Amino acid sequence: MQFPHGTLFDVTEYADQQTDRATPVTIVGAGLGGLTLARVLHLHGIAATIYEAEASPMARGQGGLLDIHDYNGQLALQTAGLMDEFRGIILEGHQAMRVVGPDGTLLADHADDGSGGRPEVYRAELRQILLDSIPAGTVQWGHKLSEVRPLGAGRHELTFANGATVTTDLLVGADGAWSRVRPLLTAAVPEYAGAAGIETYLFNADVNHPATAKIVGDGSMIAQGPTSELFAHREKNATLHAYAILTRPLEWFDTIDFTDPAAATARIVREYEGWAPELTALITQTDTAPLLRPQYTLPTGQTWDRVPGVTLIGDAAHLAPPNGEGANFAMLDGADLAKAIAAHPTDPETALTQYELTMFPRAAHLPQEALDFHESFDKHR
Ligand SMILES: Cc1cc2nc3c(=O)[nH]c(=O)nc-3n(C[C@H](O)[C@H](O)[C@H](O)COP(=O)(O)OP(=O)(O)OC[C@H]3O[C@@H](n4cnc5c(N)ncnc54)[C@H](O)[C@@H]3O)c2cc1C
Repeated sequence: MQFPHGTLFDVTEYADQQTDRATPVTIVGAGLGGLTLARVLHLHGIAATIYEAEASPMARGQGGLLDIHDYNGQLALQTAGLMDEFRGIILEGHQAMRVVGPDGTLLADHADDGSGGRPEVYRAELRQILLDSIPAGTVQWGHKLSEVRPLGAGRHELTFANGATVTTDLLVGADGAWSRVRPLLTAAVPEYAGAAGIETYLFNADVNHPATAKIVGDGSMIAQGPTSELFAHREKNATLHAYAILTRPLEWFDTIDFTDPAAATARIVREYEGWAPELTALITQTDTAPLLRPQYTLPTGQTWDRVPGVTLIGDAAHLAPPNGEGANFAMLDGADLAKAIAAHPTDPETALTQYELTMFPRAAHLPQEALDFHESFDKHR
């Protein structure tokens, strides 16, 4: 047994060459999880259609860097046969990691010597690799799922906001934190996790904010106080992408007017009183309006009883506060589910059972991994 990180089974033990009779797979959501699922199914010759709410791949910014780990995200990319493409988008040197005190004292400094197991890539570039690896037309853009109706015997009818409807015998919810598919399986809903990040960007920081660029270093930097943190990442072109993370009730954030960027910035930085100015510049010198990102989580260790014809992957199944694992596990879920379907192409229930037995124990560790993520920095304080 390899959980929490590994996969539990190898499809080559099961391959039964029945993929021409395989049940087509309907996936809701073209995030990293849904796309990995579609890619690995495609490698096995199994048809899949993804219905995605966004109008196009460019409809929304995809955020910044993701570190893709050798124990989960990279395993999924290996299964997807995309390691060469993945290596081609790695940002060399960006695995460097610094821990600093609120006063700017350097507490730990790990350089990127190229031997680390978590290289950084842009989410948009990773998503594009996956999009390029599946047949044209696999993703039906502009299809926001609004309702799912069970028809019995594992069949479901999906209705989209654009008026289209489809029926399917094998439905996968890869539709993220606020999944519309999840209620078919569980009544669990995401709850506020107690902290929120305020997202900022400083552009061309080597020139415009050299002291801040220097303290962030070549990769990522975290500075922690008791209930306030700053996390920053150096992206291409000396862009510093930062989160001011505050452990406060949601109501506390409600008192801040984020439609007034200057007032919001001034209010947030008051929570960092006494911190080094090169650190607080990550808040006060932002080139973009500060964006509030509350953190939500599903209950720890949630499972569900098997419901014929439907399952969940990624955040839809096991949303946890940001801990550097969510995208990685979404991809691993997608790869594992595809392998299970390929192993049992004409028997979806066995495939879904096998996948869930792999995913549930792994997901149960996710909230703990979020805590470990923060404690790993705590020990440097
Ligand atoms: C601020 C922040 C930073 C993060 N940083 C990291 C990190 O560094 N490393 C990491 O591993 N993880 C990180 N995560 C977590 C990571 O983003 C998620 O865990 C990951 O994206 C989950 O992938 P997914 O495919 O399950 O869902 P998503 O990426 O959320 O994709 C879901 C897709 O479904 C679509 N969709 C939603 N509703 C519908 C609908 N009704 N109908 C049709 N389509 C729909 C969405 O448009 C989206 O394309 C971070 C999260 C946040 C919020």
